[in-house]
Amino acid sequence: MDSHAPLYRDTDLVLSVESVTKSFDGFRAINDLNFYLGEGELRTIIGPNGAGKSTFMDLITGRTRPDEGTLTYHQDDGHDLDLTKMREYEVNRLGIARKFQTPSVYTQHTVYENFVLSLNRNRGVLKTLFYKETAADREEIEEVLELTRLADRRHELAGSLSHGQKQWLEIGMLLAQRPRILLVDEPAAGMSDEETERTAELLIGLRGKHSIMVIEHDMVFIRQIAKKVTVLHQGHVLKEGTFSDVANDPVVKEVYLGRSKHEDAA
Ligand code: ADP
Ligand code: MG
Repeated sequence: MDSHAPLYRDTDLVLSVESVTKSFDGFRAINDLNFYLGEGELRTIIGPNGAGKSTFMDLITGRTRPDEGTLTYHQDDGHDLDLTKMREYEVNRLGIARKFQTPSVYTQHTVYENFVLSLNRNRGVLKTLFYKETAADREEIEEVLELTRLADRRHELAGSLSHGQKQWLEIGMLLAQRPRILLVDEPAAGMSDEETERTAELLIGLRGKHSIMVIEHDMVFIRQIAKKVTVLHQGHVLKEGTFSDVANDPVVKEVYLGRSKHEDAA
């Protein structure tokens, strides 16, 4: 593992992505990508289907290796780690958690048990069920139960939750592990308007506590949570700025916002 002290850094970054390229069968899904994520930032990533958004998350989490370029994790002790040399579980262990698009929870267990399981992922399901959670665990679980608004559902089976509640449960399970970076891929997909709004509130509440990247298509949702927006197009950053910077950019409008489905956002 590559580790060296940074010479100089002008802002508190948690992640630097430089000149990254990734091809699949000759097709450049990610093309000379440069990206920087600040400590405690809530960043939204938009872009048309096939822009490379999910692949970008695959590259950060070690699921996919870049052909070229660097992905550097800046630890809070000032040391840098080369993510391209690490396996998926090693990246996760650093405190980089990822929420995939479809919810993945233990449907046959209660909401509370799901949180217990998430705190003990290395123990396995059986051991965890006989594990008595500590006072600190219980405190942590109460916190995420409140945050995800699942406190009054704690004894219900996760399988009985609505789609939105399952998504919050899984976000909560990741949060219980106190990640430094949280990557969330299209959380609002398939949600009702009310669920979407609650998801926005949940993520906004995490600002400053975790560094978060949210991929989303729903422009109403993006407008709600956006601080800095990155527009990805053909595997490259097309534009970065505030929601209105991005929404009013003629090139962005043309490649993305101009599409009929998103016209109201521009
Ligand atoms: P987005 O999430 O922005 O919709 P993706 O990152 O999923 O886009 O995909 C970007 C492009 O890379 C697409 O053309 C997709 O088909 C291709 N791609 C992604 N992952 C793979 C893979 N493992 N093998 C082959 N092609 C892939
Ligand atoms: Mg995707």
